[in-house]
Amino acid sequence: MKWFIFIVTLVACTLLFAAGKENSISVNKNTGDTDTTTGIPSFASVIEGNSNLYRSSYSLKDLEMVIQEKRNTAFLLGESKEGRKINAYYIPGSSPLKALVIAGVHGSELSSIDVAYWLLNGLLHGEQPYYSVIIVPALFPDNAFKAMSEPAQIGGTSNIGRYSHTGAIDPNRQMPSPGKAFDEENATDHAGRKIEQENRLLLQLIHLFKPQRIANIHAIRDTSYGGIYADPRTDQHGLALGYTTDSILAIGMASFIHQRGGNVAGNKPDRSPTALYYKDPRPSPAGFLQKRNMTGSVLNAKRGSGVSLGTWGSTAIVNEKDSLKNRDAMRVITIEYPGYKRSSDHSTVSRRLAEQRQTELFAAAIKDIFLANFCPEAESSGMPDGPAYTTMKSYP
Ligand SMILES: [Zn+2]
Repeated sequence: MKWFIFIVTLVACTLLFAAGKENSISVNKNTGDTDTTTGIPSFASVIEGNSNLYRSSYSLKDLEMVIQEKRNTAFLLGESKEGRKINAYYIPGSSPLKALVIAGVHGSELSSIDVAYWLLNGLLHGEQPYYSVIIVPALFPDNAFKAMSEPAQIGGTSNIGRYSHTGAIDPNRQMPSPGKAFDEENATDHAGRKIEQENRLLLQLIHLFKPQRIANIHAIRDTSYGGIYADPRTDQHGLALGYTTDSILAIGMASFIHQRGGNVAGNKPDRSPTALYYKDPRPSPAGFLQKRNMTGSVLNAKRGSGVSLGTWGSTAIVNEKDSLKNRDAMRVITIEYPGYKRSSDHSTVSRRLAEQRQTELFAAAIKDIFLANFCPEAESSGMPDGPAYTTMKSYP
């Protein structure tokens, strides 16, 4: 049964991903939500007949209603610059804790979007998660569409779909200054540049939903750096809060994947498990200043520089005039899926099956660990901070 559902899902996903703007698939006429103008990567046809999901006409302004109704709900985060729908899915958990899962920040990383949809599918068919979660599978649908429009280039160095246009800033480097809340009126990032519409919607969502933890699903071309990484949390001044529990969470997810045959080589699971991304500064012991990586990929005009969601999200916000904008440092887990290709982008059956398995494992790690009652917060008393982060036990 599981395989049947999976194959149906895969085929439907492939069809939907292939659907162009003029040639998209109409869904669920009963709700009037036809998706006919979008052509975005959408799970719509797969979930159409799923009685476990309520396809609402809610948008971000109705988020309170979405949450209060306590049911699996599809709603609209907003529209992309080219008018595509950015879909969001709310799955209520068994606890008051909240998590956010996003993918497709870089449109070229199509595999990340598949992981998010597979996670959604798993949640709709599985047990209720511990964390209530909102999933945004394709934050930049225009860019994903560009990537899908050039199938021969998927995974190639041309990186089609990573940026919104020539000269655009890296979509993952557009966050406000660490320790500062998002200002909707100005909507500028740490460097004073205009934040793109899709990221503004993400920042509004974070402000309204107030998740304790975020999983940001990306993909990486060099598969030896694939893995699950955690940003060190700090207070509003950048002083480290201690990395141990974040490390346990990330390594726990990586171990889950590794033990089942998946590739998380960047976590060095066999030698010295680490939750630190290879480009990021080492975590400081609690109370010490945490260095941050403000430089992404090397590009002209500093397009690749700026504050990432990992840095901004893992820094606490206090002393805002509007106290509703204050928040604790969030746990931000950045997932680098190895390779950009989805299963359907491979030409041989064996490669497709291997990619399916990998996609399933990454999604399962999010579902069974990140969204489960695996709370290092509750187990952290007495644990050391600092260098011990590399030697955490694997899970389970
Ligand atoms: Zn990325």
